[in-house]
Amino acid sequence: MKFYPLNKKIGIIGGGQLGKMMILEAKKLGCYIIVLDPTKDCPASSICDEHIVASFSDREAIYSLAKKCDVITYEFEHIDYNCLMELEELGHKIYPSPGSLKIIQNKFTQKTVLKENNINVPDFCIVESIEDIKNVSSKFSYPMVLKSCTGGYDGKGNYIIKCEEDIEKGFNILNPNLSTPLMIEKFVPFYMEVSVLACGGLNNDIKVYPVGNNIHIDNILHKTIVPANISEESKKNAINIAYNIINIFNGIGMFCVEFFITKDGEVLVNEIAPRPHNSGHYTIEGCVTSQFENHIRAILGLPLGSTSLLNPTVMINLLGEDGHKGDTLVEGLVEALNIDNVFVHIYGKKQTVPKRKMGHLTCCMQSLEQAENNATKAYDYIKFISKN
Ligand code: ADP
Repeated sequence: MKFYPLNKKIGIIGGGQLGKMMILEAKKLGCYIIVLDPTKDCPASSICDEHIVASFSDREAIYSLAKKCDVITYEFEHIDYNCLMELEELGHKIYPSPGSLKIIQNKFTQKTVLKENNINVPDFCIVESIEDIKNVSSKFSYPMVLKSCTGGYDGKGNYIIKCEEDIEKGFNILNPNLSTPLMIEKFVPFYMEVSVLACGGLNNDIKVYPVGNNIHIDNILHKTIVPANISEESKKNAINIAYNIINIFNGIGMFCVEFFITKDGEVLVNEIAPRPHNSGHYTIEGCVTSQFENHIRAILGLPLGSTSLLNPTVMINLLGEDGHKGDTLVEGLVEALNIDNVFVHIYGKKQTVPKRKMGHLTCCMQSLEQAENNATKAYDYIKFISKN
């Protein structure tokens, strides 16, 4: 029997809702948490043990975080991987590894590695000029998706090129300073977007969660429905790919793999995130072990927990109400919590802004139809509005 020291120190870069939900699980295992985030009252600040208020590009602050911790992880991927690589060279433990972060952070290098490993991805190529894009159009045909290779989230960083006239506009919007690397992807006429969460442990264990169907509104995740209503073959395919991706990247911790499913059952990887993911929030109430708990277990070298789905589950994101900007007020919480099997998560962001992710709700029921009904009823009640 091994002894397990109390108060393992975990450093988390990023103190948003993902960081906060990691802390809730890490606290169950007796850990001490230091968060690095530039915002003084970020969601994680209310429950972490220490908060280094510093910019994500502040190398000195990241070094001082590393000195204080046994292990470092992160809740978003747009971090200076060079700094993390230097720290790893010095012997600090950082998971997922800075090497995998470097590849994944750039959509072009990410897709190149996936393709080299025979994983099905939409056709893509790097483009450096308007001329390049025009040339690609003869190969890929319209529509095509122009993407910033780095820094994109919630569809910011993408531009759909429907015809030749869109090329210049898209190029100028995504690359105003001529300093952003761009790529073109063939447009996939998918009929469903799904994601699979997978976790790699330090003991070489790999656990994969069920397939969730993701519905986006304005490129922001709106709803995740689990299990996804796709063929058993497509499910198996997506789960195998997620498993392989952990192997390809020697992944330690949670990875999310987002897919396009086409009408004829083809499964293509859209992108990977080397961290717990919004589409995995359903696992908190829906699965035996949540994505956050498995992430913490993984980076501490503990055995991973079961990823089995307990019941059909629906997760809906709660965004800041349109037309409301200022001190946050939550409307309809009592009414929502009066509905059977509904769980509400409030991230604690002091300021609401239209479409900002302010919370989410989950409903787990015997049938997916019931779960969707109750989740939708609760969703209709809850509003994040501003006081003033
Ligand atoms: P982000 O990194 O900002 O989330 P993604 O590359 O995942 O951006 O794209 C956001 C959304 O745009 C996807 O969820 C999908 O709906 C759509 N999209 C992205 N790439 C393609 C593609 N090649 N074909 C069709 N739709 C796409």
